[in-house]
Amino acid sequence: MSVRVRFAPSPTGGLHLGGVRTVLYNYLFAKHHGGEFVLRIEDTDQTRFVPGAEEYIFNCLEWCGLTPDESPVHGGPYGPYRQSERKEMYRQYAEKLVTNGYAYYAFDTKEELEQMREQYKTEENPSPQYDHRIRRKMRNSLTLADDEVKALLESNTPHVIRIKMPEHDVVSFTDMIRGEVSFQTGLVDDKVLLKADGMPTYHLAVVADDYLMKITHAFRGEEWLPSAPVHLLLWKYLGWESSMPQWAHLPLILGPNGKLSKRDGAKYGFPVFAMNWTDPKINELTEGFRERGFLPEAFINMLAVLGWNDGTEKELYSLDELIASFDIKRVHSAGAKFDFEKAKWFNQEWLKRKDVQSLKYDVRTVLANNGIVADDDALLEKIIELVKERCTLLPDFVQQAGFFFKAPETLELDAVKPKWNDEKKQFFTEYIDVLKTVSTWDMSSVETAFKELAAAKSIKPGELQLPMRIMLVGGKFGPAVFQIAEIIGKDDTVKRMEYALSLL
Ligand code: GLU
Repeated sequence: MSVRVRFAPSPTGGLHLGGVRTVLYNYLFAKHHGGEFVLRIEDTDQTRFVPGAEEYIFNCLEWCGLTPDESPVHGGPYGPYRQSERKEMYRQYAEKLVTNGYAYYAFDTKEELEQMREQYKTEENPSPQYDHRIRRKMRNSLTLADDEVKALLESNTPHVIRIKMPEHDVVSFTDMIRGEVSFQTGLVDDKVLLKADGMPTYHLAVVADDYLMKITHAFRGEEWLPSAPVHLLLWKYLGWESSMPQWAHLPLILGPNGKLSKRDGAKYGFPVFAMNWTDPKINELTEGFRERGFLPEAFINMLAVLGWNDGTEKELYSLDELIASFDIKRVHSAGAKFDFEKAKWFNQEWLKRKDVQSLKYDVRTVLANNGIVADDDALLEKIIELVKERCTLLPDFVQQAGFFFKAPETLELDAVKPKWNDEKKQFFTEYIDVLKTVSTWDMSSVETAFKELAAAKSIKPGELQLPMRIMLVGGKFGPAVFQIAEIIGKDDTVKRMEYALSLL
């Protein structure tokens, strides 16, 4: 049997770290086993629909390189892949459950439900649920006479279909990460399966679609564990038990104080979403890893090892290496703590690992976003090679590479002034004159001229290098100063030095 997994997001907002890790583990598992990765959009809760969220999800997957084999965009043999477009398929399953005594029609109005919560609330049970204790007291097909139910249905009285949870059963399954997990069905409420608007709820739709789409393995966040007993019973009641996928509930990603939240990101200054997301309702921006300057390879690598390892000390993996090594059984069942410094380390390592050609587009873009035009291909390649080891995130290239293309706007002269004197001024005045006459402009000619003049004036070269660096790049950073001079060329070197000297 070929492996088929799915990622089934509800388009309600941006994709946070936990969501992307869920996609990733599904994807890695599918690809490790030569199977298919399905993306299904779970949009049956129309009240939570957020415009742009679906497109955002696709863009994130594309950026991460986790392309679905089947989806509303990629198509596939089990479509449609958007649940709202499958609406008509679900009612038959809900009706079948009613016919077989596993579900029932409930006609309670909003007011009646509110009244129930008021009437039955106690100190121990402040928000009573619609469960086996309560259902006998409500207006549903278990309490009303058959002809009354029939009349209500025939007159199109708004109603929902609820699952009838057994009072005393225990249901269990074997989670691929956690092992045996069991639940007492009497503690779970009679969840709505089909809503008054004819839309299924998540519970019915997820089971029906995992069945119809022949899903073999379903990995989702541990927040869905409490729903598992409802789903287990639906698989059984619908007669599909033998096709039930194997499940794994993925542990939470933890922030500095418990579950990692959007607020942690804002508070501690790190991104928690894959890409920038602006909530259209409140116009609030949540920062993304992409915009912070992470490479997708680093982002994916960091997420993969957040709660998983292959049993060795290895930390750096390409997507292909992850596919080869991934084993869902090696995902830890305890929450994994997110560490932003470690995330940056992954990016730094990936900048070292990636070749110049594959970095060129991103570096050119980040420079362009900062007003620096780097259209000389050969020059850009040379510079990336020279400075990439000094960069952690992509925007670091603005500082580390920008001065090659554009004279610095500010000069950190305060770093030079305390030790500045007439002797040094004289040195640079003469050095500029020497440089103007250099015929073969390269690192070694610039350096030789520098050292010879310094020796003639008995000044230690070390005393002169910092001022020269500040003159050329603006601050205390960058590769070897003579190499910088070679690359920016004679005219620019002379111009920058003359200008800086005029300020000292
Ligand atoms: N639609 C659910 C979500 O938004 C999917 C849960 C599942 O994978 O079963 O997370």
